[in-house]
Amino acid sequence: MRYAQVILPLPLFATFTYAVPDELDADIAVGSRVLVQFGRKKFYTGIVEALTPDPPGNFEIKPILSLLDASPILRYPQLKLWDWIAEYYLCSKGDVFKAAVPSGLKPESESWIMANPDFELPEGRKLKEKEAMVLMLLEKEKKLRLSILEERLGIKRGSALISRMLDTGMLEIAESLSTRYRPKTVACVRLSIPRDNTEAMHAVLDSVGRARQQEKALMAYLDLSRWMQRQQKVAEVTREALLEKSGVSGAVLNAMRDKGIFEFYKVSVNRFNMPVDTVVRLSPLSPLQTGALDAVRASWTDHNVTLLRGVTGSGKTEIYTHLINTTLEQGNQALLLVPEISLTTQLTDRLRAVFGNRLLVYHSRFSDNERVDIWKKLLGSNEPCVVIGARSALFLPFARLGLVVVDEEHDTSYKQTDPAPRYNGRDAAIVLAGMHGCKTLLGSATPSIESYYKALSGKYGLVEIESRFEDSPLPDVEIVDMKAQRKERLNRGILSRPLVEAAREALEQKRQVIMFQNRRGFAPVVVCKACGWTPKCQNCDVSLVYHKPTDSLHCHYCGFSQRQPSVCPACGENAVEVFGYGTQRIEEEIAASFPEATTARMDLDTTRNKDAYHDIITDFSDSKTDILVGTQMVSKGLDFGKVKVVGVLNADTVLNYPDFRSNEKGFNMLEQVAGRAGRRSEKGRVVIQTTNPSNPVLEYVRRHDYRAYYEAEIEARRELNYPPFSKLIMVYVKNKDQAVVDAAGALLAAALRDVFGARVLGPERPFVSRVATYYLQQIMLKIEVGASLPKVKAILRRIYESLARDPRIKTSLLYYDVDPS
Ligand code: ADP
Ligand code: ZN
Ligand code: ZN
Repeated sequence: MRYAQVILPLPLFATFTYAVPDELDADIAVGSRVLVQFGRKKFYTGIVEALTPDPPGNFEIKPILSLLDASPILRYPQLKLWDWIAEYYLCSKGDVFKAAVPSGLKPESESWIMANPDFELPEGRKLKEKEAMVLMLLEKEKKLRLSILEERLGIKRGSALISRMLDTGMLEIAESLSTRYRPKTVACVRLSIPRDNTEAMHAVLDSVGRARQQEKALMAYLDLSRWMQRQQKVAEVTREALLEKSGVSGAVLNAMRDKGIFEFYKVSVNRFNMPVDTVVRLSPLSPLQTGALDAVRASWTDHNVTLLRGVTGSGKTEIYTHLINTTLEQGNQALLLVPEISLTTQLTDRLRAVFGNRLLVYHSRFSDNERVDIWKKLLGSNEPCVVIGARSALFLPFARLGLVVVDEEHDTSYKQTDPAPRYNGRDAAIVLAGMHGCKTLLGSATPSIESYYKALSGKYGLVEIESRFEDSPLPDVEIVDMKAQRKERLNRGILSRPLVEAAREALEQKRQVIMFQNRRGFAPVVVCKACGWTPKCQNCDVSLVYHKPTDSLHCHYCGFSQRQPSVCPACGENAVEVFGYGTQRIEEEIAASFPEATTARMDLDTTRNKDAYHDIITDFSDSKTDILVGTQMVSKGLDFGKVKVVGVLNADTVLNYPDFRSNEKGFNMLEQVAGRAGRRSEKGRVVIQTTNPSNPVLEYVRRHDYRAYYEAEIEARRELNYPPFSKLIMVYVKNKDQAVVDAAGALLAAALRDVFGARVLGPERPFVSRVATYYLQQIMLKIEVGASLPKVKAILRRIYESLARDPRIKTSLLYYDVDPS
């Protein structure tokens, strides 16, 4: 008998061993999806990680209950990547499994199961007795937990049955309406005779006789199915295609079915079909771009990773497109990572025009259905294609990855902060490319300090483009001192006089304006004017934020919400007021200042639904709106031809992050948002409003001087021993009891200090020190570059184990954040 090590979607560090029943032995493989029992009541879908001939010890081993697919759902080297992430980011493989695989592929005992109302039993197939029982039960109860369903059915291997029913589409997982996997089916038509039987064909022709319509349908079918081309397989013919090609009505086909000429059947199709004959339309590159492209290729002869630093609007996207095209021509697949979904919208449109159906889009805003489809599509084919997606796309089952491109590589949203795995998508992508033996291109106008440092020191290749496509000049940047504006009463509310004038001029010239307001630090807060009371979240250490549309208060950390009080709960006065500017209030103010212009707003509130980004961006592209007001989302990568003026309403909130990356984040954000102005030929203008005009970062942005900014920043990092000169590991402890978590933090820090000495900083309460009812303590570990990370991590585990039985540690949760961003 063989034994399988199984990864379960749990945050546990152990591996779980199950016995492989003889009847499954022939089909099971590494990467297979299996159903197993865990504990007494729970059932999980797990992934086989290894198969061994020996039992791992002499404890009782449960058998695998069933194998859920005919073949593995993972491909080499996916499990290797999971291993690397778990090891490097100090989390369990179960955590990685949870993040990597769409939930439709991993039903758990907690999942709600329901009958699929649209399911039709294929012709000729009857319900089995047990299936009928399940459906009856679900008809009565509407939906049931998988575990309860099994209990009620009283069948030992109930879940295996359920999994099969899920796979055929009879049942579905009812997480929410939009996240459930349902294979799509199409109606198809085929001839009911064997292909090589000429007599049967004559009989068919006879039975069609003089019916012109039926003859048309038959001829169309023979053509579409390539019936006569014996060397090829009979092609699947959809009912729709047949109707279109022949021009006959559905009734004609029905009549032919009744005569026994045609058979109707259904096939489940993937939502994404990739016809091989897509026409590729590439823009020719400028000489500068061609030079950069050649330089990238040349640098790959002795580097695995190359950094392309090209100023905003230099046409990096076009260079990616050419590289991707070469990859596809070589029969390989390409992965293009982008930091956030707001960016994919425009990029998807641009790349769709070039690569047609060979482009697959994958991100978390998609329904689980769509994600499962893309997963299966990649699993079932080796065809060349390009996947564009946010960080989770790197978990897809690529067959032959030939290129990885990470766009806007500096962006901190590549880092997942919560929950585990707390991985950086850019860094994991480089590792993935290495496992496939392919090259990585990192692209940015403002590379991260770490990446540029690696490029300068020769670890990465480096290619730079210093001017924009067609030599459009970079925009003029003006820094406006808001204190002086207010003193001289030049401002109009939030808008300084220079910004008003610049915007007005642009609008008169029928150009467009972007007004940028950082999401951070401007949320509208509520204060009682009489006693100073402000509403706090009951679960977190943050103030609640006012939402005008619902007249209610929200916590952005845990989602808690409550009604806006009309009288102050502390003093009873009728003096509760809203202060500060939400983007909505800003939009109102701007609209009032420019009554002749149309404005639109892009922020979290206006983009909750999936198409909203697309609509806002398209309207602005088509000049249906004149002024776009927005947060981070408007700053990233977007390409609008007619934007002449960009206003940064309050740079202070961008420049004062409470961490060592403060300058980096500030410079990147301002340079990026400035880069939206004047992208085609005529010069743009950027107005940055601040109360601290002497901040040196502003001067680098004004001169668009990345190098000078970098030189200053790298020196500061060297002095303070921050990355890239050290490696950071944050250790967090959380507990619902503040005294316990404080004690646990102190205990852990002392134990760490015994080994790591001065490399340990803290413990301290983080900036937001209570989240979702848990109090937090944080400890920072600064490790020398070049120190052995496996050793460091082994020590961390040992320290934890030595303390694990202490009640303060035992009742707390502990986790790590490696390379925090
Ligand atoms: P980046 O990604 O470097 O900010 P983009 O790739 O968005 O720059 O290019 C900026 C603009 O210039 C886009 O509108 C793009 O269509 C245009 N452009 C860049 N390269 C070419 C080219 N070779 N042919 C035609 N248009 C180009
Ligand atoms: Zn009050
Ligand atoms: Zn909260």
